[in-house]
Amino acid sequence: MTPDQPHAGVGMTSERSRDRLVELLRRQGIRDERVLEAMRAIPRHLFVDEALASRAYENTALPIGFGQTISQPYIVARMTEALLNGGNLERVLEVGTGSGYQSAVLSLLVRRIYTLERIAPLLEQARERFRQLGLRNIHPRLADGTLGLPEKRPYDGILVTAAPEGIPRPLVEQLDQGAHMVLPVGSREGQALVRVTRTARGYDTELLEPVNFVPMLGGVEK
Ligand code: SAH
Repeated sequence: MTPDQPHAGVGMTSERSRDRLVELLRRQGIRDERVLEAMRAIPRHLFVDEALASRAYENTALPIGFGQTISQPYIVARMTEALLNGGNLERVLEVGTGSGYQSAVLSLLVRRIYTLERIAPLLEQARERFRQLGLRNIHPRLADGTLGLPEKRPYDGILVTAAPEGIPRPLVEQLDQGAHMVLPVGSREGQALVRVTRTARGYDTELLEPVNFVPMLGGVEK
């Protein structure tokens, strides 16, 4: 399967559906044209089960198996925009590969991404999608992302797509000076999207908006 031969039944409309999605994201306040272009370019229906492909361009989260979800397109765009903050990033760490959709969008906008997933079959599926789409700057690994990936630090951006209850210290420590980490923080009862900026003495935080992510868990599942 290639980007030009999507699942049967979606092929003729997916490009127009993506155009409509981009218009919706624009109305919802996404301003960075590079982000909108990346959202237009990545075929989201290739990141969900065939049975759900017809719903891939709705602005909703969808199940991807193993109790996990692919994030709502608006949230993917919002987090990407907040991470880039108008700049160019060379080396980004993502925690929570899931379907691989967020990694794919980011891969068009940054030089190199390391992405960590704790559920082996999800990681393998995502790896196969990156291969099929020719996204060679994404480096997926099976690992517990609460610990980050210290050997490749420092990162000039970290994006987390599962919610820890507090800001994981190892991740802050792997950020370069002045670099941002965008993550959901909280429990199932309430979460906020937060942007952390590493400073000389510690870090600053900005609250972006309320969100609803799956919880960040420890350890890996083979
Ligand atoms: N970015 C993904 C969203 C997936 S949902 C997408 O675009 O599809 C969040 C993912 O985080 C799940 O796949 C879950 O297994 C993973 N996750 C949760 N805790 C983790 C941890 N400690 N390390 C790595 N991945 C984790």
